Amino acid sequence: MLKCKDVVTNATDYIDKEMSWSQSMSMALHLLLCGHCRRFIKYFKLSLLSLKKKRTISSENATQLGSEIIAKAQADT
Ligand SMILES: [Zn+2]
Repeated sequence: MLKCKDVVTNATDYIDKEMSWSQSMSMALHLLLCGHCRRFIKYFKLSLLSLKKKRTISSENATQLGSEIIAKAQADT
């Protein structure tokens, strides 16, 4: 079973579908059970999509962005 931390770490790959079937199933299962990560992925996907329209995003930027979105998602509770 994945931890929330693993979901955050793998969020970019999950959204870009750059992971194996079993990895993506583990992510999907965690998201099914964890409302925090569902919200995180939702915000993360939206932010990533809007960023990608403007410029390419490096994985360091994506991780940085991830932390910002977590903070935002938690404040949003
Ligand atoms: Zn979680």
